[in-house]
Amino acid sequence: MLESLKKMFAGNEGDIPVNTGNKPDISREKSAELYERAKKYFPGGVNSPVRAFKSVYGTPLFIQKGDGCYVWDADGNQFIDFCGSWGPLILGHNHQKVREKVIEVMHSGMSFGAPTALENELAELIIKNNRFVEKIRFTSSGTEAVMSAIRLARGYTGRDKVIKFEGCYHGHSDSLLVKAGSGLVTFGETSSAGVPKSFAEETIVVPLNDIQAVYQAFEQFNGQVAAVIIEGIPANNGLLMQDEAYLRLLEMTCRENGTLLIFDEVITGFRLGFEGAAAHYGIKPDIVTYGKIIGGGLPVGMYGASAEIMGHISPDGGVYQAGTLSGNPVAMAAGIAQLTELLRPGFYKELNAKAAEFAESIQRFATARNYKLKVFYVGSIFWMAFTDKEKIQTAADIDHASMEKFKMMHRELLNRGIYFGPSGYEVGFVSAAHTKIELEKTKRAIFESLDVVFRNK
Ligand SMILES: *Cc1c(COP(=O)(O)O)cnc(C)c1O
Repeated sequence: MLESLKKMFAGNEGDIPVNTGNKPDISREKSAELYERAKKYFPGGVNSPVRAFKSVYGTPLFIQKGDGCYVWDADGNQFIDFCGSWGPLILGHNHQKVREKVIEVMHSGMSFGAPTALENELAELIIKNNRFVEKIRFTSSGTEAVMSAIRLARGYTGRDKVIKFEGCYHGHSDSLLVKAGSGLVTFGETSSAGVPKSFAEETIVVPLNDIQAVYQAFEQFNGQVAAVIIEGIPANNGLLMQDEAYLRLLEMTCRENGTLLIFDEVITGFRLGFEGAAAHYGIKPDIVTYGKIIGGGLPVGMYGASAEIMGHISPDGGVYQAGTLSGNPVAMAAGIAQLTELLRPGFYKELNAKAAEFAESIQRFATARNYKLKVFYVGSIFWMAFTDKEKIQTAADIDHASMEKFKMMHRELLNRGIYFGPSGYEVGFVSAAHTKIELEKTKRAIFESLDVVFRNK
């Protein structure tokens, strides 16, 4: 989301390149009509910027329906979907168990602003199966969860500064819409208009996978750092796998400095397994944030920590945080139904094996043809990078010019009935609903698309 934040505003309207592929473009008449109307109502015609298709060919597709691993757009085109609503839909679209639970709960009303048993039920599912959180608080989005986690860390430690990493996305709250300035350790510079410089200066931005930069930041801001926040596996700006040793040193440095380690697992939580990236690496964060999957497709976020740390949240403690729709019963119902499915023995093993086979066979194809492409993957998250680097671990490692290749591939894939998120900086997701049949079809479409992309290499 980070690079796309910048790039998506560049705009490609009016710049519709001729179709150089070997498939006709899909019809987008109805979508284009809806987009024209939407532009009257919403900035850029959308309610979240990446949806505007600014980094890929053509106007955005308006989705009418989803079922299993398929979506259909307003023009009736059918696609195998690898966006999965940007991560929440690990069971695929319109899963029967989730749908039925939501409908059952909706018969009793949709919101009360008072506690319901459903909140307990989802909390128990999470806490009983997760060693990293003893107490939690539900919010309505990932952004809110992270914003609140930062406030909690500040309230708990009595310190103000936060260290974040260039290339990690943590939602759109003020203190996290911050990017690196020049130099190894810098005060953040705002990455959005409207964020006061003084707020950004409470956030220190360092490169990923560089422990020296972290040491330097702690030296420079000795005794002032409330929290270090990192995506356990950074997956919002490509897929930037960190070295385990690095994460371990990061954890140790936090402990030594009385700084809280926040793992933002909004995208990796319940995706890699029930305990996310923290368990994947065996790191124990002090505060964890989740979102996306825990809402089963409805708006839910959450943050959690030890009972002792969470004791600082109001009304028990002095850190204020609230929400009119927090713990909304319908959203809880979706979460309960989805997480219950994920707890089935072997669920992740099966899903992850399927995704690995998918990613590896694309890699084999590209390698055999000498195409400059690396398929990075972990669990059921994958990212296709047009590069010949063996590893991409920092934001600076990403070749921005290569995104032209993604743009071409995206168009070819749409023309072959495959829907990827409309930006080369975004990862893709394999869901439990993708069967061998769809994955084989997708591979074939990807192979053909890569042949088009690299035809003039
Ligand atoms: C998606 C995401 C967020 C923001 O969540 P929203 O629900 O979009 O507000 C924050 N952090 C990470 C790691 C994410 O992937």
